[in-house]
Amino acid sequence: MKAIQVKECGGPEKMEYGDIATPEPGPHQARIKVAAAGVNFIDVYFRTGLYKADLPITLGMEGAGVVDTIGPDTAGIQPGDRVAWAMTRGSYAEYAVVPAAQLVKIPEGTDSKTAAAAILQGMTAHYLTHSTFPLKAGDTCLVHAAAGGAGRLIVQMAKMLGARVFGTVSTEAKAALARAAGIDEVIFYTKQDFEAEVKRLTGGRGVDVIYDSVGATTFLKGLNCIRPRGMMVLFGQSSGPVAPIDPNILNPKGSLFLTRPSLGHHCATREELLWRAGDVLGWIASGKLKLQIDRTYKMADAAQAHRDLESRATAGKLLLLPG
Ligand code: NDP
Repeated sequence: MKAIQVKECGGPEKMEYGDIATPEPGPHQARIKVAAAGVNFIDVYFRTGLYKADLPITLGMEGAGVVDTIGPDTAGIQPGDRVAWAMTRGSYAEYAVVPAAQLVKIPEGTDSKTAAAAILQGMTAHYLTHSTFPLKAGDTCLVHAAAGGAGRLIVQMAKMLGARVFGTVSTEAKAALARAAGIDEVIFYTKQDFEAEVKRLTGGRGVDVIYDSVGATTFLKGLNCIRPRGMMVLFGQSSGPVAPIDPNILNPKGSLFLTRPSLGHHCATREELLWRAGDVLGWIASGKLKLQIDRTYKMADAAQAHRDLESRATAGKLLLLPG
């Protein structure tokens, strides 16, 4: 089968499109014919080596398609089922093998591209807003990269929960997208001082929580924008990793809480996975949650998708289509 492999870490040019053996499902696993694979920053981190893996690897942590065959002792899933998954690597390929426990069935009426586009960033937005810092009516939050794939879903879920939502973006076009997602206030962190803006908008108090996926360029200043005993949720590093800090700085900033969460720990049980995936796919099916597929690429052009994502040119989901 055709797949995108990384044999050596580095730039997008290290992504090789070629033939590899079609994987066989083991016990409690299913093989899926991939209809669409989601492109995520985590794929960039594995490609560059920021996140470690034994090479070679087939990239891709998110996908959707049709179950082709199942391994021994695999229950609850059958060939022909339409499914989506996140956080098992290998979706940049014609076929992927995934533990049955990580598969969710795609509801009738939702196409595979939409499911592939929604599952990883949607469940991320869900755990951040419902579990890491469960927002309630009247809370204020700041979402960095608010027009991005994860960002726009966080904005929408925060609004569903009744929060007042501020977000940072780099361009007018992205500001329009964030506004369409329902954001209350847009801050241009490329030309405005976002600390001053947050203080102005909150009458000096600061927000209850920051959802920060940008990292290096936003993290430290963000600590000045949170109310006493509020929370900094660092969940990514699109601008680069945050340098080590002395935990004592959380005290003078207001006894702040700091967490660095990941999706895997928030889909720890089958019940939790089905809760989050069910909400996300259900809200999309009912129109309550809007998802924008920004760009689709042929699988063979995966390197271009990475270039676009890393160059800050995109706003919304990127998908790879095999074949
Ligand atoms: P986005 O669509 O958000 O793309 C990244 C955005 O970050 C850019 O469009 C840009 O928006 C902003 N950005 C700011 N500075 C830079 C920079 N120097 N280089 C590139 N982008 C920059 O991507 P995703 O939605 O796929 O992912 C967002 C983040 O969320 C990633 O860091 C990812 O790792 C993280 N994530 C974490 C998960 C977890 O469980 N911990 C799960 C899923 C995603 P602008 O132009 O407006 O500044």
